[in-house]
Amino acid sequence: MDAADFREVVSSLFDDTPDAVVLYDGAGRAIGANEAAQLLTGYAGNQIIGSSYRDHVASRDYDRVDLALQTALAGGTDHFDTSVRHKDGSIVPVECYVFPAVVGGKIVGVFAQARDIVALRSAEASLTFNQEKFRSLFEYHPDGIMEVKADGTISRVNVALESETGFYGEQLVGKQWTELVTPEVREDADELLRSALRGEAVERDSFLLDRLGNRIDVQLKLVPLRVGETIRGAYAILKNASAQKTAERAIAARSEQIRRLYMVAASRAESLDEQIDATLALGIELFGWDEGYIVHFAKDRLEIRNTVGSGLLNKGATYPLQASFARYVLEPGRRQIFIRDTDEPRWCDDPARAIGPWRAYFIVALDVGDEAYGALVFAARSPHYEEIDPGERDMLQLMGLFAAAAIERAVQGERIEQMAFNDPLTGLPNRVLFNDRIEHTLATARRYERGFAVMYLDVDKFKAVNDKYGHAVGDAALKEVALRLRATTRESDTVSRFGGDEFVILQPIVDGPSDAADLARKLNVAMQEPIVIDGVPHRVSVSVGIALFPSDGETIAQLTEAADRALYRAKREGRNRWYFANADFARGELRKTRFRRREAIE
Ligand code: GH3
Ligand code: MG
Repeated sequence: MDAADFREVVSSLFDDTPDAVVLYDGAGRAIGANEAAQLLTGYAGNQIIGSSYRDHVASRDYDRVDLALQTALAGGTDHFDTSVRHKDGSIVPVECYVFPAVVGGKIVGVFAQARDIVALRSAEASLTFNQEKFRSLFEYHPDGIMEVKADGTISRVNVALESETGFYGEQLVGKQWTELVTPEVREDADELLRSALRGEAVERDSFLLDRLGNRIDVQLKLVPLRVGETIRGAYAILKNASAQKTAERAIAARSEQIRRLYMVAASRAESLDEQIDATLALGIELFGWDEGYIVHFAKDRLEIRNTVGSGLLNKGATYPLQASFARYVLEPGRRQIFIRDTDEPRWCDDPARAIGPWRAYFIVALDVGDEAYGALVFAARSPHYEEIDPGERDMLQLMGLFAAAAIERAVQGERIEQMAFNDPLTGLPNRVLFNDRIEHTLATARRYERGFAVMYLDVDKFKAVNDKYGHAVGDAALKEVALRLRATTRESDTVSRFGGDEFVILQPIVDGPSDAADLARKLNVAMQEPIVIDGVPHRVSVSVGIALFPSDGETIAQLTEAADRALYRAKREGRNRWYFANADFARGELRKTRFRRREAIE
């Protein structure tokens, strides 16, 4: 290449370089500018020539550019970032090289070469930004992440994965990534990697294996790792799902328990007691207790209402309150009591410890209506050192609520029954219940050829008590009459009130008039003591009419009519006395009885 060739090459270099190049003379006036310089500034070549360098740079950079020119004119080179002012006024950041233009060993001017760095910078910036972003995403992501090569070896892991597995990164790099999952899911993991290498992002519940061999529930996600157009491997992201899985399993277990309790609750066909027993049995089954029972507090005692399990407790048995740990639910704010071991110092002197072979208890307070009704108790023969988890506590509480609801329904049922069959003032059976009993008695008496007695009672001159002392005092007197009648009769007798001051007694088994006469006499005696109301004594007597089956009638209607007639006679004859419907017959029979008795004595 000769000198001319060389000049041509340099000239083409000058013209064709993508950088803007301007040649300035010693005074800083442009003497040449290439294509790129025209593009960068927006001016045509001839417009640039003759202009000052200052015409093309941002005014704030004048000092810096002056310095660079002087440096170059002195034979040095300079390299700095500055800004070119475009013809349209916009400012273009450039990277600038300034160096001397030497002709024949003499510095004749300065070359300024500028490169638009906006595009460059933004590309660079976005690259570093993305890299940074990615790096921190990878490093500090809360989930464990490993970079896996196409052959399945680990090339990088993040901090979370290290802490999750207990391995250091360097211990993992180079290993097969499937070594970090439990053996039974390895094949599946391999399959996932193959999918990722085909470009799919895939996800699966899986199990991570930590350094100590523990199995950790994870949600495994594989994302293809692309470099340019090719997939070089995958990122395996392992989200710890233990807490979630545990919760899910707990909820699943609990919902099954709740479903079973609900099934018990919904089985309305069974009696309430059967439902309560089924609840107790469920508690024993689900939580491994040995005995489940329900106690009912009644004053200073408690009664076992329902019991399931060991067979050591008897339904209906009563104990002093002191004999049960359940009494602690009567203390304010104690809704649940968990006793791990009755041998512990705080319990070992408790009198309740003597009852039953149990060492651990879980007790739930039962409220029925607004009252502290009693407690649901689960007991175990062995100490229960494990804490009862909140879910189990909730479930036991739910069982308590359910048992309380069943008891409440039972109590309400009793109340409704009471209202239907009992007299509200005295609580005695009403006419409906009396009729039921007498029908039953009649049938039995016929079958076994036995006698029974029906007695009609009416309080003497009761109207006077009402008139003189008022209705409330009258009511109190009627209640007291009822109590005395009840106290005088046997459990098997029915004492009923039909309304007003009229009572009817059914004596279901009598051998003859003497049994009835004995009772009638006792009834008159029971009324001799004045009834004291508000400190005022009231003399109250009753008149009684007695009908006997079968002598006074074979049907209920005949018997009641006969008893009523006898009562009428007792009233007419002066009150405070009793009469048989068939007095002559009765007198004869009584005489025979006395005779027989005398015979028996003799
Ligand atoms: P006798 O000796 O003839 O039976 O006279 P008596 O005043 O008791 O008359 P009778 O049995 O015919 O009247 C019953 C009275 O009892 C009528 C009413 O004033 C009163 N009485 C009826 N039911 C009730 C009640 O539920 N409460 C109260 N306090 N009084 C009643
Ligand atoms: Mg009366």
